[in-house]
Amino acid sequence: MTNQFQHVSENLKRVTPHPAHPDNNKETHYRFASKVLALSGILQSTLEINELLALFAKEIRQFIKYDGLTYRFPSLKIDIKLGDQPVHNCAYELVVAGDHLGDLNFFRNYPFEDSELEMIENLLAGLLYPLRNTLLYQRAVESATIDPLTGVRNRAAMDSSMKREIGLAQRHNTPLSVILMDIDHFKNINDEHGHLYGDQALKAAAQCAEQSIRESDMIFRYGGEEFLILLTGTDLDGAELLAERMRMNVENLLPITEKGIRMTVSLGVTKLTPKDDTDSLFQRIDAALYRAKDEGRNRVVIDRPAN
Ligand code: GH3
Ligand code: MG
Ligand code: MG
Repeated sequence: MTNQFQHVSENLKRVTPHPAHPDNNKETHYRFASKVLALSGILQSTLEINELLALFAKEIRQFIKYDGLTYRFPSLKIDIKLGDQPVHNCAYELVVAGDHLGDLNFFRNYPFEDSELEMIENLLAGLLYPLRNTLLYQRAVESATIDPLTGVRNRAAMDSSMKREIGLAQRHNTPLSVILMDIDHFKNINDEHGHLYGDQALKAAAQCAEQSIRESDMIFRYGGEEFLILLTGTDLDGAELLAERMRMNVENLLPITEKGIRMTVSLGVTKLTPKDDTDSLFQRIDAALYRAKDEGRNRVVIDRPAN
């Protein structure tokens, strides 16, 4: 049951308690206003969205009884749930200077009163600007690591992830496999249909590969039409199955755009050995992909290192 849907923006910001509120006197007003200021100061201590919401949730518990809250900001894939979500809720759409900052919901198992809603709304004023800074920061981080055309991670993200995952796998002696995927005769697609349609085909291949893997696997755009898939905790047999599934999924994609573009991919697969570093792993997977091309394309070639 939704108590009410509020649109909270800086223009609606009120730090005066509700007129009907029993504590409505000047001293309480200033005490409350300084609490909102203090809240804003506390929230400015982080640019991490989960941490910010957890801090906010903790701080406002001093003023309002509630069981849980949710916060959603879909364009950055942020979907946070804290505590329980029983039947009664109050919902806020947060806005600063016309910018939508997400939807916040408070939950509990009995209705919120008007004076409490007023209080929540006033406290939200302390959240708006720290939240906006956090979202700006998260967007900057995202654009530094995501390839804008395909939506998968970029080369810079790949270099740091490879280093980290190789180090972890060797230290803990856990399996790690990699797949290198390259679109076959992609130059012909560009030449025949133009770069704009080439771009759409590239995007479709990347998304198809992404949908073929698990949440814990990572896919990166390594070069123009080459993608690296990092499989933490997966042995060579598992990686081979996955590479074959990706090959089939791309081959069976519905024709792309009205041009009816079809594609195939070649894939090289190998696993990390205790002696490997990033370069030696790359050399082997590159050689495996080269063999897949050499042996006729639209196929998977496995490199099986001695240990
Ligand atoms: P092979 O089967 O041997 O891989 O042949 P290929 O034509 O795919 O390989 P090649 O490396 O010769 O060509 C890759 C092409 O990919 C050339 C380049 O113009 C194109 N390409 C790279 N990045 C992009 C991009 O972002 N968009 C488009 N449309 N084309 C791209
Ligand atoms: Mg190619
Ligand atoms: Mg290539």
